[in-house]
Amino acid sequence: MMDNQHVNYVCLECEEEELIPLGVVQDFDRMDGGDPSVPPKFACEHCGGEMYPEHYIGVHGYEYKVSNILQTQKDRQGDIP
Ligand SMILES: [Zn+2]
Repeated sequence: MMDNQHVNYVCLECEEEELIPLGVVQDFDRMDGGDPSVPPKFACEHCGGEMYPEHYIGVHGYEYKVSNILQTQKDRQGDIP
């Protein structure tokens, strides 16, 4: 049986969801020499917006949750007078 693990990505703009194979996400993660606190990101095929993993633990041991990002955005919007 094939390993069919996927990471569910959520578009931050339109909330479209897309399943991306775990291996692909991990490859991007390894190639990304930048900030390890930022997960591999993909562009939404629906609106071109930024997609964020719903829940993914990266190859560097960081845990990413879209709920954290959405909460942060809400907090920021709350700060705008
Ligand atoms: Zn989108």
